[in-house]
Order: sequence, then C-alpha cells, then structure tokens
Amino acid sequence: MKTIGLIGGMSWESTVPYYQLINEYVKKELGGLHSAKIALYSVEFDEIEKCQSEDRWDDAAKILADAAAGLEKCGADFILICTNTMHKVYAQVQAAVSVPLIHIADATGEALKAAGIQKVGLLGTRYTMQQDFYKGRLAEAGFDVAVPPEEMIGELNRIIFEELCVGEIRESSRATFASAIEELKKEGCEGVILGCTEIGLLVRPEDSVLPVFDTTVIHAEAAAKKALE
Ligand code: GLU
Repeated sequence: MKTIGLIGGMSWESTVPYYQLINEYVKKELGGLHSAKIALYSVEFDEIEKCQSEDRWDDAAKILADAAAGLEKCGADFILICTNTMHKVYAQVQAAVSVPLIHIADATGEALKAAGIQKVGLLGTRYTMQQDFYKGRLAEAGFDVAVPPEEMIGELNRIIFEELCVGEIRESSRATFASAIEELKKEGCEGVILGCTEIGLLVRPEDSVLPVFDTTVIHAEAAAKKALE
C-alpha cells in the first residue's frame, strides 16, 4: 500500500472528511483491520487566508511547498492539496517535490467524464469561481464551465470563509447555495461541482436540483484508489 501525503488545514473542517473518506474506502476494499497509510501536514489557515486576501500567492506557495517537501521526507508516495483554491499554486508545490500531486480538478474531470457530463456549474471561493487556474484546467479537458451570476459570488464566498471554514452550518446559507445551483441549471448545466472542500458539509445531494460532484469525496477516493493500485 502506498503512503498518501495530505496538505490539510485549509480549513481543518474539510480535512477531517478527507481522513475519514480515505480510511472508509480502504476498509471497504480490504476489510478487517486495514487502514490507510497517511501523512498529514496541517497548516495554520489564518496565515494562508491572509496570503490569499493580500494577494501574496507566492508566500502561500512557499508554505505549501515546504509542507509537501516535509511529506515527501515522511515517505509520502504522492500528495494531495486538500483545497480547490490553493491549486492556484499547484505548479509551485509540484516543483518542490519529486513525487506526484493529484490535481483536484483532474480527479473531478474524470468523475464528470464517467457521468457523461459536458456543461457543468462551478461553486467555490471567489478565487476559484472568478480566476482561470481552475476553470481553465477544466476547459482544457473539454468541459464547458459556468459560474453563478456575479451578484451571488460575494455571498457564496462569505459563507465559505465566515461560516463553513469555522464549522457553522446554517439553513439560510444552504438555501443560498441551492438557489445558486438553480441558476446554474437555468444556464443549461447538467451537473454542479462543489469546488470548495467545505461545501459538501452544507449542501447535500438532496438540496441540489443538479447532480453534485463533491470535490472532497472525489479527491479523497482518487487518493485511496491510487494508494491501493
Ligand atoms: N477549502 C476551500 C477550497 O476548497 C477554501 C479554503 C481555501 O481558501 O483554501 O477552495
């Protein structure tokens, strides 16, 4: 079994499900007392968030690159950055290690392909929804990616950072996400990417008028599968 390296803590609320999902997958496949080999480097999210909001992405990249190098030293055979947003600095983190990183958008693209989806809605932080590092990668893979209307983006981003990242689950915010998904359906989307690793803590499949692609679940399962290859 390969050792999975996780760069977590962004936020820690969403790293908890990664740990659980990976171990559940291994248990389902191997049974008995089997569990995953995992090395976790959990960062201080306040430092990362400040780098994001102050546009100091190179500083954030340095923190994650150091974390990745530490995980490689610990014996990680491959590494996951457990957040969609920080894939903005994916190339810098990958350059710091000789083991591969599993890109969260690539794993999500595989899941979309398997479901036969071409036009897809994307929910995430404002960085993920508005910048090109994530949408562009999906577009290159052949997907048509739509995001919610401009006037909804600020509120969705606020809910992520002020509620979900601190463990607050509110019914009114669930309704806000549900109506964003309705807008994406009106745009012709066939599915929706929960492109922020905390959204699945709030939005359940039954809250959505579109099939949901939860990046936390997809990324964690891709890692577990690779560990057992
Ligand atoms: N976990 C979130 C994501 O998947 C947001 C936190 C962050 O900014 O890294 O994008």
